[in-house]
Amino acid sequence: MAIVDLPEEIQKHILETVVKTKEYESNHFYITELIGCPRMVFYNRTIGRPSKMAIDKAYQFYFGIVLDDLWTKLFKVNQRRVTHKVYGYPITVSGRLDFIDSKGVICDLKKTANLFFVQKEAKPEHISQIMFYCYCEANYKAKLCYFSLKNYIEHSFTFTDEELSQFINDFVEPKAINISNYISTNTVPDSEKTKKDWECHYTDKETGVEFYCDYYDRCYPEKKAEDSD
Ligand code: SF4
Repeated sequence: MAIVDLPEEIQKHILETVVKTKEYESNHFYITELIGCPRMVFYNRTIGRPSKMAIDKAYQFYFGIVLDDLWTKLFKVNQRRVTHKVYGYPITVSGRLDFIDSKGVICDLKKTANLFFVQKEAKPEHISQIMFYCYCEANYKAKLCYFSLKNYIEHSFTFTDEELSQFINDFVEPKAINISNYISTNTVPDSEKTKKDWECHYTDKETGVEFYCDYYDRCYPEKKAEDSD
């Protein structure tokens, strides 16, 4: 038996929890979009994400979403929306921080199947995400809380005002402007310059489930045929 054999009602619930259609406003970007592949953002916003997902793939995301929802509610400040207006452009970047703990530290929960890859250090894109929250909140302390269904690891950070301002000036604002330009000129971002292999295709070591980006076929039409040989 496998995940595909779960009762139909449960499969339906898992898919409804994981696959949510997002309404995008032009010139309003989410920080989670800016830390990932610009090409993916371009396709999400121009052709739209496929609304279907295989149940074994959805199952891998399900616990992260459900536990995030249950656990963040335990804190007084939770799911707080933060925004930043890009200087000189009609562009807004927003995000939603998970919670602020009793010591005033901004915390972000990250469910991962395997903690091995974050044992020594946090993922750079996750650090970028909390730096954005810290900048918007003028709070210099943050924590990335990685959990799997077996264990927990956290990484703490203290940023300076200069680091946060530089991050906004050098990373967040240019990236938001670039993506906005790609979309308004209908130009597909160059995949070689934006590619991150783990976003394109990876295999979950624990479950063996293969994850392909929704746009893998578009970016690597020949490669997918080779991979499945
Ligand atoms: S397949 Fe890779 S390069 Fe193409 S959109 Fe997805 S993550 Fe980006």
